[in-house]
Amino acid sequence: MISENLPQGSVWENFYRISAVPHVSGHEEQLALRLVEWAEKNGFSAKMDGVGNVIISRHPAPGFENAPKVILQGHLDMVPQSSDPDRDMTVTPVEILSDGKFLHTGGKTTLGADNAIGLAVAMTALSESPVKGELRAVFTRNEEVGMDGAFGIEPESLNCNYLINLDTGSEASIYVGCAGGGSVTAHCRPETVENTLPCWNLTIAGLKGGHSGIDIAAGYGNAIILLAELLRQLPDSAVAAIQGGTLSNVIPSSASAVICSGSDREIIDAAQRMTGEWRKILAPHGDNIHVSVAPAPSVSRAWSAKQKQKLLDLIAELPLEVVEFDDKWNIPALSGNLAKIAGDADNLDILVSLRAQDDAKKHTAQLETFNSFVKYGFTAQLKEGYAGWKPAENSILLAEAITAYRQIYGHEPQVKVIHAGAECGLFARKQPELEMISCGPDIFNFHSVNEKVDIASVERIQKFVFALLEKIYS
Ligand SMILES: [Zn+2]
Repeated sequence: MISENLPQGSVWENFYRISAVPHVSGHEEQLALRLVEWAEKNGFSAKMDGVGNVIISRHPAPGFENAPKVILQGHLDMVPQSSDPDRDMTVTPVEILSDGKFLHTGGKTTLGADNAIGLAVAMTALSESPVKGELRAVFTRNEEVGMDGAFGIEPESLNCNYLINLDTGSEASIYVGCAGGGSVTAHCRPETVENTLPCWNLTIAGLKGGHSGIDIAAGYGNAIILLAELLRQLPDSAVAAIQGGTLSNVIPSSASAVICSGSDREIIDAAQRMTGEWRKILAPHGDNIHVSVAPAPSVSRAWSAKQKQKLLDLIAELPLEVVEFDDKWNIPALSGNLAKIAGDADNLDILVSLRAQDDAKKHTAQLETFNSFVKYGFTAQLKEGYAGWKPAENSILLAEAITAYRQIYGHEPQVKVIHAGAECGLFARKQPELEMISCGPDIFNFHSVNEKVDIASVERIQKFVFALLEKIYS
C-alpha cells in the first residue's frame, strides 16, 4: 500500500514498483521475474541466472562496442522485521509513508530502502541515462542472509570495467574497500575432577555488544573475554560450566559461568574489584556492565585446575579484538571476535570469527587460531568464509567518482574502507580487474521497523550516478 503525498519521479516510480512485490530474503523470485519483465518491456536483454540473480543489459549504441562497460549493482532481498507478529512479510507488501523529509513505514515494518532504492537508481539510469556505452544492472539474491547471489554469480556476469555498488547508507561517503571474514570452531572434552564444593552462578551482563566488524574498535568490551579475566582472579575456584555469545558477527554482551568454591567471598570480592576497573574503561563507550553472583544447584564434576588454566591461557593467546590497525583508513586491518563459548563437564565448544581487508592476513590469523586450539587440546575446524575487497591504488573509477561528487555536492566525499563484509569482496575475487566503488543515499535504522530513507538524498545520489556515467563516457 502506498500513501498519498509521496515523492514523484522516475526513481520513485521504480521504488514503488519494487516495493509492491514482497521480496524478503529467500523469497525474491517474484521480484526477480517482475524485473526481468520490466527490462524486456524496456528493450533490454535480461535473465535470471542459476542462483536467482537478475542480470539486465542495455546494449551499447553502434560505434560504442569498445567503450567502457559499467555495472550498477544492488541486492534483491530485504530484511523482514515487523512490529506485528502476525504479519507475513513474504506475501504482504510494505506500506510506505512520507513525512516530507523521510520515507518510512510508521514503525510497522522494515521499509526495504535497503536495497530497493539501489535497484531503483540502477533502473532509472538504465532507462534514462544518455550515455552510449554498455550499461548493466546486476541484482543479487539473498545478500542479507548469506550473500548467496554474490557467491554464486558467474564471472561473465561481471566482465565489465567498472561496478557501482548502490548498497551503502550514507551519502557523505564513497567506499572503496571492505573486509573479508572467516572463522574457526573448536571442540574438546574437558578434563574433570569430582566436585563436593557449593556452586555459584557468575554472570557478566549489560555490555553494549555490537557488530563484530564495524564496532570491534569501539571499545565496547567482549563479555567472554571479561569473564576469562575474572576467572583468572579466582585461583581457588573451579569452573563447572561456561556460556556466552550468540552469533559469529556479534560481540558478546553477556556471559556466565558456574563456579565451584568453598564460599562466595572470593568471587564477590573479585567481581566487585573487576567491575570497578571495567566501568572506568567501558563507561565512556556506553556500556553498563554489571556482574552478579548467585547460588547455583550443586554439580558432581567440575573442570580440573589444569583444564581451567588451559582455557584461560588459550583465550590470552588468540588473535582477538583489534589485532592490527590500518592508520591510512583509520579502521582495523585485522580483528578477531571471541563470538561464542559453551562448555560443561562433557563438552567445550568455542567459535572465533576473524576479519581483514587482506585475504592473506585473514588466512594467517585463521591458521594461528587453529594452531592455538590444537596446542591446548582442541580439535579445530577452519571455515574459509568470504573474500575482502582491498582498496585499489590509482582507480580511474574513484577519480571520476570524486569529480562527479564535487560537481553534484559542491564538496569532497569521504573516501572510506569498511571493516565488514560486502558483496564487492566476492566480486573482486571473481573479476580481479573490475574497478568498484560503493555509495548510496542516507538510510537510518537499517534492518529495523524504524528504517527510513532521506528523500532529498535519494535524488542527489541519482544525479551523482548520472554525472558519474557522463564522466566515464566523456
Ligand atoms: Zn543492503
